Amino acid sequence: MTHRETLRLPVPDQIEGRPVTVPLYQTANFAFDDPAAMASAMSSPSGAHFYSGYTNPTSRALEEAVTALEGGTVALATASGMGAISASLFGALRHGDHVIAQKAVYGGTSGLLNNLATQWGVEVTWIAGHDLDEFTAALRPNSRVLLLETIANPTGYVPDLPNLLGAAHSAGLTTIVDNTFATPMLCRPIEYGADVVVHSATKYLGGHHDLVAGVAVFAEREPYEKAWAQAIKLGSVIDPFTAWLTLRGLKTLPLRVQRQVNTASDIAHRLAAHPAVSVVHHPGLPSHPSHRRASRLLSGYGGTLSFEVAGAEQFMGQLGLILNAGSLGGTETVAMHPASTTHRHLRGEALRATGVTPDLVRLSFGLEHPDDLWADIEQALKSLPG
Ligand SMILES: *Cc1c(COP(=O)(O)O)cnc(C)c1O
Repeated sequence: MTHRETLRLPVPDQIEGRPVTVPLYQTANFAFDDPAAMASAMSSPSGAHFYSGYTNPTSRALEEAVTALEGGTVALATASGMGAISASLFGALRHGDHVIAQKAVYGGTSGLLNNLATQWGVEVTWIAGHDLDEFTAALRPNSRVLLLETIANPTGYVPDLPNLLGAAHSAGLTTIVDNTFATPMLCRPIEYGADVVVHSATKYLGGHHDLVAGVAVFAEREPYEKAWAQAIKLGSVIDPFTAWLTLRGLKTLPLRVQRQVNTASDIAHRLAAHPAVSVVHHPGLPSHPSHRRASRLLSGYGGTLSFEVAGAEQFMGQLGLILNAGSLGGTETVAMHPASTTHRHLRGEALRATGVTPDLVRLSFGLEHPDDLWADIEQALKSLPG
């Protein structure tokens, strides 16, 4: 007989009936019949679960869902988008390796690559992303990774995925594509030859501004196993509750993205016709430098745009319905002024190189009615002098 303080709640390992949604396995660890079974579980990301800092059934369900959406083989869900990017890079790179990366990548990614260059002996060359000759000129015997972003932020630049991924493959590089802004609804980079597709699931995949997560999807198993081995050391594996929330958000991804893409296109055209707006950056507009490539490679132009207006900071202060916030891709429309926030430490040429000007405002659309959004934008534009 055990003492009354020895409380052991029964844990059902089999239930009657099939749940309609993925159950949340909110458990840190898993129990085994003997040490040999545990040893087997802890040595590999496949097979039995050992510890939720390694793998977890709910997280695995998310990994399988995003694998299917991206047309990959296997995926690693992580605690953030940066967790997915760092695990993928650390899995693919050694000291002395060379990375070729698109200039216009997410600030956290360029920061990580600059860190790898200054502290960890990795070399980096930055390229635009549409010129095969520029890529070929950047190639070195120690080139190991090509990193691209399907739709870059905040300019809407779209790289030449098929040609660059093909050339990188021929040169034996591992190719990583950040597909956060396109989502698998608009582009599946593995179909163009990507080895790894990474996402900030914080944005469109989660889609409700209520979680921070990432996913890396792999075309083959081997780079996945390497990235997983890094992720458990970096501590960047997703926790089961966040995985469960991401799965919940993922169910409405097609509906949300369709609405966001339509709204972005609608507002892009209205802004382009407004006299106070000097330029609109949206790949759906025929005037955008990536328009033809975007039409060829994407099945939609994304839910984000940026535009330039004299008095951008004042415009921001006048917005009502539209929130002034950083992270994007969720149900609420958000505006951001990069020059005074994310890019505030850059001046002059360094700022211009990112495509950001003091006049630039980024808008990322949620699910509100486009007429309500336009009314808010229009009244904020009207408040500007001259
Ligand atoms: C936000 C973002 C990231 C980083 O994701 P976190 O979830 O914030 O770590 C990476 N890439 C792109 C394109 C992003 O927008």
